[in-house]
Amino acid sequence: VDHTASSYYPEIISILKGTFKLSHFRKNQLECITATLDGKDVFYLAPTGGGKSLCYQLPALCSTGKTQGTTFVISPLLSLIEDQVSTLRKKGINAFRLINTVDADQANDAMPRLRKGESLPLVYTTPEKLLGSNNVQDIVVQLYNQKQLARFVVDEAHVIGGWRVWRESYASLGILRKQWPDIPIMALTGSANMSAIEDIKESLALRNPVCLKQSFNRSNLYYKVKKKPSQKKELLKEIAGFIQSHHKDDTGIIYCLSRDDCEDVARRLREEFNLSARHFHAGMDRDSKRINQEDWSNGKCKIIVATVSFPIIVVRFVIHATMSKDMDGYYQETGRAGRDGEPSDCVLFYAYSDAMKIQNMLKNPHDQNNKPPPDEIQRQLERLSAVVAYASNEGDCRRVAILRHFDEEFDEAECHKSCDNCCKPGTVVNEDHTETAQQAVQLLRDMSNCSRERGIALTMFKDVWRGKKGATVSAYTGLPGYAAASKLDHRMIDRIVTQLLYSNIFTTRRTTSGNGFGNNYLEVCNFSLLSRLSD
Ligand code: ADP
Ligand code: ZN
Repeated sequence: VDHTASSYYPEIISILKGTFKLSHFRKNQLECITATLDGKDVFYLAPTGGGKSLCYQLPALCSTGKTQGTTFVISPLLSLIEDQVSTLRKKGINAFRLINTVDADQANDAMPRLRKGESLPLVYTTPEKLLGSNNVQDIVVQLYNQKQLARFVVDEAHVIGGWRVWRESYASLGILRKQWPDIPIMALTGSANMSAIEDIKESLALRNPVCLKQSFNRSNLYYKVKKKPSQKKELLKEIAGFIQSHHKDDTGIIYCLSRDDCEDVARRLREEFNLSARHFHAGMDRDSKRINQEDWSNGKCKIIVATVSFPIIVVRFVIHATMSKDMDGYYQETGRAGRDGEPSDCVLFYAYSDAMKIQNMLKNPHDQNNKPPPDEIQRQLERLSAVVAYASNEGDCRRVAILRHFDEEFDEAECHKSCDNCCKPGTVVNEDHTETAQQAVQLLRDMSNCSRERGIALTMFKDVWRGKKGATVSAYTGLPGYAAASKLDHRMIDRIVTQLLYSNIFTTRRTTSGNGFGNNYLEVCNFSLLSRLSD
């Protein structure tokens, strides 16, 4: 389909150039804009920094679409809304916000203007505000009756299925389609795998949506995982050392687990290492946030130590002092680096004890009133275990592992040695390990047959294969496969097991009483697929 031939195209191009001062579209942007102007539902997937905002901001300003009037943009974070509205205002675009704070500055508030019947092209709101207030509902009904409700846009749509953060009101956005069946919906996300996509489409009841998906590979990012020292002092030394040697005058973000931790890390980097670090988290009062933001803008502060997203444009490095809660989060957070396309570093400090801490936090959230249902918690634990698998894998290309999470096939050769695992000496891409893999399958079968336990834990399997000594493995030392891999490098063992899992020859099973990733039992699933490994 030639989108430049549509009747909307002349207006689209004139707004692109005149208002947004851009010369051409990135991949899928024009397709997305044309589809929504045509009144279709759209599902738009692009990595952070891919240019999602333009996909709804531009059509909101068009007068030639099938639906007219206000575009409501539903966004989960107030800080993002404020950021967007002020950026748009600077460009002379009439964007407003509809948010429920008493001290909100009135000039930007959409409500009084909508009441007066003013026509507003672009209104940002949170789901709570849009769905939770009768006043707002009245206004929306009014717009709808006057045929002045152009479309709903659900930004950061992965929040719907609790992908990353659980928000009751995001989960109930399905009501949009029920209440306004003929109003087009656009869902956008920077982070979703196949099951998240299905979740989103179903929850929003999207109607034959036009699905646009971009590759999630961020070729300018270098990924690295480091063992996290158990002493905080050592950790700070490593972080500071890395910054001083690689990013002396650069800007960056350091992610921490808790607010206290953030404040402590920022303070010590300042005091002990003379780095211009500041903390930033959701618990700060407005003034401190503003001061830190100002210092960031005027260059007094170069490093932000954060638990949450900080509205910044370009950083050269992202350090995870603590692992993320899931791969989506990790991708989003690392994705903040290098949004200008220049080479940037992503370093994750990994410790299994951090995973246990997060596990406890998920099971016992601070806010007991907003506790997700049990099966949601179970899903969160499974997502956490994916990060553990990623971080503890010392063999596979990081990029392949990250992109596999988005169901994207990626050839490790395309990494061009821009991750730590690909840079390790002796990493041979095309070696045939079919025989070793067959050994592993046989060993797992033998172990399962003689085990009186409920299953074989992944670590147990590796221990036996490697030939670990001691009481824990004593039940298996008599098997022919015991210690068969004693000569293999442990990275190679990881790679083969991971490969067997990805090829669906091995599978993991979780017991219902399982406590998360502790009881991940390994099973042989499909032996006949093994021949594929030699390809
Ligand atoms: P996302 O929401 O997908 O993370 P943004 O919408 O914030 O990304 O866009 C990231 C950057 O890319 C912004 O600075 C934006 O101005 C720029 N951008 C978006 N579309 C284009 C385009 N077609 N040409 C040039 N720059 C663009
Ligand atoms: Zn790689």
